Formats: sequence, C-alpha cells, structure tokens
Amino acid sequence: MHAEIISVGTELLLGDTVDTNAAALGQRLAEWGIHHRHRQTVGDHQGRLVEALHLAQSRAEMVITIGGLGPTEDDLTRYAIAEVLGRPMVRDEAVVRRLQAFFRSRGVAWVELNGRQADLPEGGEWVANANGTALGFWVPTEGCGGVLALPGPPNEFLPMLDGPVRELLRGRGGVPLYRRTLRFVGVGESLLAAQFPKLMDGERPTVAPYAKPGEVHLRIADADDEAGRERVRQVEQLIRAKAGEHCYGADEETLPEVILALLRRERQTLAVAESCTGGGIGARLTEVPGASDAFVGGVISYTEAVKHAHLGVPEAVLEGPGAVSHECAVAMAQGARERLGATWGLSVTGYAGPDAPEGRLGEVWIALAGPHRAEAVRFAFRGDRRTVRLRAVSQALTSLWQALR
Ligand code: AMP
Ligand code: MG
Repeated sequence: MHAEIISVGTELLLGDTVDTNAAALGQRLAEWGIHHRHRQTVGDHQGRLVEALHLAQSRAEMVITIGGLGPTEDDLTRYAIAEVLGRPMVRDEAVVRRLQAFFRSRGVAWVELNGRQADLPEGGEWVANANGTALGFWVPTEGCGGVLALPGPPNEFLPMLDGPVRELLRGRGGVPLYRRTLRFVGVGESLLAAQFPKLMDGERPTVAPYAKPGEVHLRIADADDEAGRERVRQVEQLIRAKAGEHCYGADEETLPEVILALLRRERQTLAVAESCTGGGIGARLTEVPGASDAFVGGVISYTEAVKHAHLGVPEAVLEGPGAVSHECAVAMAQGARERLGATWGLSVTGYAGPDAPEGRLGEVWIALAGPHRAEAVRFAFRGDRRTVRLRAVSQALTSLWQALR
C-alpha cells in the first residue's frame, strides 16, 4: 500500500502557512505501515488540482488531500476529486440540515454557499470532524485504496488524524515502523555517519542521520515486530559502543531535560550569567516543567555595568581583557554561582554581530564555575547574529552536559 499526500492551498505555495499537517500525516503513515514516496503541494485551482490527483493516482493506491474543503469558491478539492474519479456529486440533505441547525444555534445566517460542505462524490463516506463544519470524506477505489479528503485547519485536522482517520486506515498498511532516535551533541553529522558506513547503507534496519540546530539525531527504523525491534536494539548497541560518549539521550528526551535530571540526581543546582545569548539558555532550561528544583535563575548581564554590579566582574577585567574574554567569562560564571547560591554557574559572553572588533565576529566564551574550579573555553562560531546566538546557547548546554556527565 502506497499513499501520496496532496496539500491544497495557495497560502502553502506562498509560504504564508507552513505545511505542518503533511508533516504530522507523514509521521502517522509511517507508524501505520503505510508507505509514502511522494508529496505534492498545489494552489487553489481546480485544473491543477485535477492534474495533481491524476499524477498521485498513477503511482499510489491511496491519495490523501489536505485542505480546500471549506464553503467558499476557492475550496475546490471535493469537486476535483469527483472529476478525477468520474463520480457525480451528491448533496447530502441530512448534512445540509445539520449544518443549518448548527448555524441557527450560533445565530449565524445561512447562505447557499454553505451547502457546498454537504457535497460528497458518489460512493463516498463522511469522516467526522468534531471541531469544525467541514467534514472529511473517504471514497474507496479498488482494493483497499481510495481517496481521503481532510480539512486544513490544524485544530480540526490533527484530532481527525488521531481519531476517525486512524480507525479508517488502521489495518490497511503493512507492518508498522518501529523507530528509535539517538541524540548526539558535540559531534558533526558527517563525522558521526562516517563511523558507521555499513550501517548507513543498511536496509534492515535503516539508519539515517538528521542534523538539528546544535545536535545530530540518528534514526534507526525497522519493522515493528519482534525481529525488527531486536535488529534496532543491536544496532543501537553498536552505535553506543562507538559513539556513546556523544549520545545524551534517545527518542523525545531533550538536552535541557537530561541536564536537569543529572543535576537533580546529584542534588545540585545551576545559575546562569548570559550576555550575548540574552536569556536563551534560561529559556531552554525553563521549557522543561519543574525546572526550578535544579535551575535557580540567572542574570542577563548585557552591559558592562551590570556585569560589574550584579556579577562582581572586576573593573580591571572589563578595562583590561574586556567583556569578551576568558577572564570575564570566568568572573561571570563565578559571580552567578556565588550570588545566586548555586552549585554551578554557567556563563556566556561574545560577539554575535553584526558589529565586532576586526576578526572577532562570532567569538564566544563559555565558562563553567563549580565547587572546585572554573574554566572558560573560546569558540569561534560562523553565521549571522541569530545563528551565533543559537549556537552559543546549544554549545553552552552541550559543555554543561559534558561537564556534569
Ligand atoms: P482550508 O481547509 O483549505 O480552508 O484551510 C483552512 C486553514 O487551514 C487555512 O487558514 C490554512 O492556512 C490552514 N491550513 C491548510 N492546510 C494546511 C496545512 N497543510 N498545514 C497547516 N495549516 C494548513
Ligand atoms: Mg484553503
């Protein structure tokens, strides 16, 4: 069974809306063992929609459309599907009456256009939508294939996916996919992949690297049956044996979660002092619910005056080596640790740009002060201001994890 997704909407082509629905659907299809090899995006235009549907039908048994089921003239998906399948359109009077009752209950006037949402290609069946007026529908074709049409608003689409759509499609696919994701920091994608050339070419399981901001993920996937899960386990062990020191977690675990868990386990706490990251480290840590039992807080010390007054960075440091220096980073980390009463102080100071002294753009110092010692390391990040700041946050978290581990 192969499926093809067609996302419908000019706003998707223009980039005004990001196609998050297709991403969610892609994940579900893999889970349900329904393979998909192609995905199309097409604007609100019946001719081009018909073309897309023909193409999809020529290479997939199941076609799933997203969007274009509303009542207005630019919502054309249902008519294109009827045209391609050669089915007449039938207006479902029971649905018309339900829609009219719904509009009355909301005190909204009924206009004839609304009747379009009751139009169903002959032989189709409705797919319930608990959060909107646009029903989905499924038109079976030969075998267990067919065309499934779903509405675009994510607050309607996502609950339908995990409710009636799952019911409808369950059992139509092959063996579902079992996935294990290993998460790495402090090692590049190609360097990591180069350690396992044989695994990367494998089919059972497949191993694929994904570069994420500041991290690399390796996804190991195989059939979700006993043999498949066992193959995944063996490959995971192989990978961990070789590159385990860079692997901070698996599946949905995040680096801040792992850091906070390590601190908690040791009954330790952390404070931060952030200059060029402007609170970015604190933001990442406090995304984790319950962070306060290990993360006490921090100082956003953007100016020299605040570095001095609130972190105790000596004037001699600011006037001598300067605010972007080994000495300043260490003093900031020690200041955060002492003034906020934490086991660890983590600091960042650097030139994120666009202005920086000649040759120092992207220079970032990250320091960690603990009970016994304080150290700073210099990094040279490339990229624009946003990139340098993101990298500095990721690197600070990575350095912290490496020190705590
Ligand atoms: P429609 O069902 O085409 O009327 O879409 C209604 C709303 O859902 C629009 O505001 C779209 O921006 C949004 N939407 C449509 N398709 C998608 C999609 N694939 N991913 C995320 N949002 C979408
Ligand atoms: Mg639309």
